[in-house]
Amino acid sequence: MRKIAIIGAGMSGMIAAIYAAQNHLQVVIFERLDRVGKKLLLTGNGKCNLSNESITTDNYITDSPKVLNSILTSFSREQEEQLFQNLGILTKVKNGCIYPVSNQASTVLDALRIRMKELSIEVKTESMITKITKKDDTYSLCDEFNKIYSGFSELLIATGGLAGVYQEHQKNGYPLLQSLGYKMIPSHPALVQTICSDKDLKVISGVRSDVVVTLFINGNEQGTERGELQITEKGLSGIAVFQLTRRMDELNKHNTKLRVDFLPALTQECMDSFVKKRYQQMHQRTLEEFMTGMIHKKLIFFFLRKKNWKLDEPVSKHTADELQSLLYMMKNYEFEVLDLNGYQNAQISTGGVALEQINPEDMSSKQDKHVYITGEALNVAGECGGYNLHFAMASGYLAGSSIARREWEKE
Ligand SMILES: Cc1cc2nc3c(=O)[nH]c(=O)nc-3n(C[C@H](O)[C@H](O)[C@H](O)COP(=O)(O)OP(=O)(O)OC[C@H]3O[C@@H](n4cnc5c(N)ncnc54)[C@H](O)[C@@H]3O)c2cc1C
Repeated sequence: MRKIAIIGAGMSGMIAAIYAAQNHLQVVIFERLDRVGKKLLLTGNGKCNLSNESITTDNYITDSPKVLNSILTSFSREQEEQLFQNLGILTKVKNGCIYPVSNQASTVLDALRIRMKELSIEVKTESMITKITKKDDTYSLCDEFNKIYSGFSELLIATGGLAGVYQEHQKNGYPLLQSLGYKMIPSHPALVQTICSDKDLKVISGVRSDVVVTLFINGNEQGTERGELQITEKGLSGIAVFQLTRRMDELNKHNTKLRVDFLPALTQECMDSFVKKRYQQMHQRTLEEFMTGMIHKKLIFFFLRKKNWKLDEPVSKHTADELQSLLYMMKNYEFEVLDLNGYQNAQISTGGVALEQINPEDMSSKQDKHVYITGEALNVAGECGGYNLHFAMASGYLAGSSIARREWEKE
């Protein structure tokens, strides 16, 4: 029986292992950590947002939307449902996001482990693979202790990205993939908090607000997201900001700004009449009282400070136009982004092996059809909402079942 090596026991490596082994192939999976699937336990705040009801290429950033589209359409919603059934995982949908009914990421990992055991998949933990060699159509792997594992007819690399990594020696599969000659797209942390320059952030830290956020790089609009904003002492966070971080590369070279609309329900067109009406109604109030009920208390203080106006100043000290300029500021406030809060705090990393180097029908690489690459090791950065685990499963499923089919055809 031919032997298949899989490097990396994350979601995509384990799914590939299961689908290859189900078709009677001997599978050995190598994992650098002491346990398989450790990252899975952190997903969805411990609840594991497995996938999403609506998935298109628009939910991802990649170098090759065409290849991505082929992969996504080859793994249908029905196939995904069968995969969950195969693992014994019951799922539920909440706001379009797919979760295990158990609400526990640990049960997803347990289900994967049970299936791998049933299929007699050999798991080698604490095996950081550092070198791959090929001789006479078979692959040999060398771990960091120079132990050699040989005789593999196919090799699957599912080593993930750089998220969670904070030391040089933990760089996962990147050095391995580079040594094999794959073109790597530069990475940065994504789905992560931003670090911003505003000196008054402390004043508003802890605020959560439903906003619209627009990203500008060197003055050019890059994308807009609606959702909850969370303000920290260091910068901006929350889903809307997370999504936009996928587009923030080389911050040190670009002027990167997040423009926040703190009053998204108030359109620019009706602002004029809104301010005039409120001004007439409340001109006898203080500025703090005038703004009470519009936004979070801490933001009132923040914006008045930006204007150099005092909380207890009477509204009548200002004209309606001046108050309009205050609201304009609240709808268009810009924070300069200095940095992203590191790989160790990020949910994913962007970049990785360029997707254009992959055959979408089976995830094999164009430079060697016996080497497969899946999951976050590839340059595919999904939004929050189950898109990254979906891609890990889709690519793992395609690779695992194709390896099995190919081996079966040979026999
Ligand atoms: C906090 C957090 C929350 C998240 N929440 C969600 C969510 O709810 N929904 C969602 O869709 N996505 C979520 N993600 C992202 C998602 O977890 C990843 O995109 C996905 O797990 C990637 O799967 P993978 O198998 O490609 O890589 P990984 O899960 O990273 O697995 C790669 C494995 O390979 C091992 N490895 C690396 N290099 C080597 C080597 N040289 N030798 C041996 N082993 C090696 C690693 O130790 C690792 O176990 C979250 C991520 C984080 C960090």
